[in-house]
Amino acid sequence: MSDDTVTEDPATPPAVGELTPPDRTLMGPGPSDVHPRVLRAMSTPLVGHLDPSFVEIMDEVQELLRYTFRTDNEWTFPVSGTGSAAMEAAIGNVVEPGDTMLVPTNGYFGGRMASMVARAGGDVVEVDAPWGEPLDPADVEDALATHDPDVFGFVHAETSTGARQTAVPELTAAAHDHDALVVADTVTSIGGVELRVDEWGIDVAYAGPQKCLSCPPGASPLTLNDRAMAKVRDRDEPARSWYLDLSLLDDYWGEERAYHHTAPITNVYALREALRLVAEEGIEARWARHREMAGALKAGMEAMGLGLNPADEYWLPSLNAVRVPDGVDDCQVIETLLERYDLEIASGLGDLEGDIFRIGCMGYSARPKNVAYVVDALGQTLAEMGADVDADAGRAATLDAL
Ligand SMILES: *Cc1c(COP(=O)(O)O)cnc(C)c1O
Repeated sequence: MSDDTVTEDPATPPAVGELTPPDRTLMGPGPSDVHPRVLRAMSTPLVGHLDPSFVEIMDEVQELLRYTFRTDNEWTFPVSGTGSAAMEAAIGNVVEPGDTMLVPTNGYFGGRMASMVARAGGDVVEVDAPWGEPLDPADVEDALATHDPDVFGFVHAETSTGARQTAVPELTAAAHDHDALVVADTVTSIGGVELRVDEWGIDVAYAGPQKCLSCPPGASPLTLNDRAMAKVRDRDEPARSWYLDLSLLDDYWGEERAYHHTAPITNVYALREALRLVAEEGIEARWARHREMAGALKAGMEAMGLGLNPADEYWLPSLNAVRVPDGVDDCQVIETLLERYDLEIASGLGDLEGDIFRIGCMGYSARPKNVAYVVDALGQTLAEMGADVDADAGRAATLDAL
C-alpha cells in the first residue's frame, strides 16, 4: 500500500457489458449504413499521423476528394470533426469581423450558417424562401443588390426539407457580379447528387462523410478555391477558432506536413476507402444510382397514396420528404419502425415538424434491399394504424421500379 492510500476498499469498476448495438437499417437523414469495406478499413492498425506512409494516404484522400467534389482546388482536404466542423472551418475563416454574409431561411441549416456567421463576428442578412422550396435566383439577385454582402451561403441539399437547390450556376454568377464569395453546404449532396464545384462557380464547399459517402462521421470534406484562400490569407485578425484556422491547417495538409493537431487516422482511413468506392463506381454512375433507387422509393410512396413534399423539380433523391397521412402520429410510426423493424427514418423539423417523414436514400443505403424494406415496413405500419394508404400498391410499384 502506498502512503497516500486513504481507503481500504478497491474502486468498483462499472459493470458495462460488451458492445452490442442493435442491427439497424439506417434510412434517416444520416448517418447512412456504412459500407462493409469502410468498416474493415477502420480496423486497420494505425500509423503515426506524420509517418511517410500516412503522408501518402493524405495525398490520395485529397486526390479522391477533388474527383468527388469535381474540382481542381489545391485546397481540398478533410477537416477533423463532423460536417459542422467543416462548416465552421468554411464560415469561420472566410467571414471576417464586420463582413456581411447572406444566408437562406428555407431550412434548418441556413439557420446554423447564421449562428456561425454571428460567432465569427459577421453580420447576417437573409434571403427568404419557404421551407421545402429552393431559393429563387431573382430573390437572391435582389438580396445581393440590397445588402451587398461579402459572402453568400446556400444549402445545396437541404436535409431538413428534402429540397434541392436548383439553378446553382445562376446563383453563383449573381454573387460574383456583386463580388461576393459563394459558400455551399454540400453535406447531403456529395457523392449522391450531381455536384460540380468548379463548373458551377462555387468558391467554398463543405461536406460530410456520413450521408451519401457511407462513411462514419469524423473527417469532413472541405474545398476552397484560390480566391477564397486569398481572402483567408489576407485576414486582418486570425480566425477565432485555433483548431479550425485554415492558415494553420495548411501547415499540415499543405507542403510542410508539420504538426498542428493529430489527424483522426482511423477516420481518414475510412474516408479513403469510402472515396475509393466512389471512384470505382464512377461519380456520374453514383449520382444515377441515387436517382434510380430513390426514384423507386418515391414511386412506392406515390402509389401508396403518399405525396412527397417538394415539387418534382426540387426533389432531392438523397432525402425524401414524404407527407405524413392524416390521422396518424408521425412519432408513433417512427417508433414502431425502429422497434419492430430495426429501421430508422426521421420526423420533420422546424416549419415541417409533424408534416413529413424524412427518408434518406444515401450511399450504401441506396440499394434495392433497403428501399424495398422501407417501403414495405412503412406501408404496413401506416395501414395498421388506420391511414388511408394502399400498402400493396406501394410495394408493387417499388419492386417494379427496382
Ligand atoms: C448533416 C448536415 C450538416 C451537419 O453535419 P454534422 O455531421 O451533423 O455535423 C450540415 N448541413 C447539412 C445540410 C446536413 O445535412
